[in-house]
Amino acid sequence: MFQDLHIFDVHAHFPIKGDPSQGGSLRTRETGRIDNPAAQERQKFRQEQLERTRHQWRMAFDFPEPETGEHSSEEQADRWVAELDKYGLERIGFVTGRDNDELSRVVQMYPDRFVGFAHHDITRPDAAEELERAVTKLGLKGLKQLAPAMPKIINDRSLYPVWEVCERLGIPALIHFGMLGAAGGVSYHPNISPAVLEPVARDFPTVDFIIPHFGIQHVTDLLFLCWSCPNVHVDTSGSNQWVRWMPYKLTLDDLFQRFFETVGPERILFGSDSSWFPRGFALRYLQDQLRICRFMGMTHDQLQLIFGGNAARLLNVPLGDIDAKKSEA
Ligand SMILES: [Zn+2]
Repeated sequence: MFQDLHIFDVHAHFPIKGDPSQGGSLRTRETGRIDNPAAQERQKFRQEQLERTRHQWRMAFDFPEPETGEHSSEEQADRWVAELDKYGLERIGFVTGRDNDELSRVVQMYPDRFVGFAHHDITRPDAAEELERAVTKLGLKGLKQLAPAMPKIINDRSLYPVWEVCERLGIPALIHFGMLGAAGGVSYHPNISPAVLEPVARDFPTVDFIIPHFGIQHVTDLLFLCWSCPNVHVDTSGSNQWVRWMPYKLTLDDLFQRFFETVGPERILFGSDSSWFPRGFALRYLQDQLRICRFMGMTHDQLQLIFGGNAARLLNVPLGDIDAKKSEA
């Protein structure tokens, strides 16, 4: 347990070297044809720019530099379970991990601690079948998408077979909207605001949609989407440093207060967006968020929903059994 709570971190990334799903912030229209010197020069410039802003961000949060060495999935899984044990966390959801087969392999190493999300291009012609395979054959329990990286508007009817699979199998979809990546990343895209999800959320009322990072710069659109569709939830993950670029003063405390009073404790899910070592689990995000919620005067039951219970319900896994086993031992 962490303090008096069973914690389920719903949003983390399994760190695998060369994972294409991690490159979102450097994606450009040139990607795929950067074989000429000018394009390579541009890419190098972007990379350096990105490194600078990431360094500043790490300094602000006092996070160490990410390691550069190679590690096998087995080693990374062992390291992640050691992190969970170190802090008393019960479960963690990995929303990416190279591809569905590899992430499934990872989750099966610690099936009572890890939960995996399917993450593949849902504009692929076989996307619905792949999602079905990822859930029924590979044991993944949700779908993860990065909306501002998709080549199509997310409410396009051609994608409906994918939502039909979510509906039929009872799995949630965690979909990132808003700016993507560190500074220098994507802030303009037809799918940048969660408002574009409304037709889908309305047409599939039994599918639970989770929008991470409080919707980032489209926090207003997300609040209205939540008002419109009770099947839309939010996750709290990441540094949430985006509040700095809002035109009015907004803090993490404000976000928790506004969402708590509008959507209640059952539609807010704790996440950390942890991935790389040596940082491992981003403990300070949990500490900051828990402090805010405790100072808001939430009851133990409300805290338990936000920091674990909601994720366990949406992803259909038990919570509390691991902590119980540990305390027996
Ligand atoms: Zn993430």
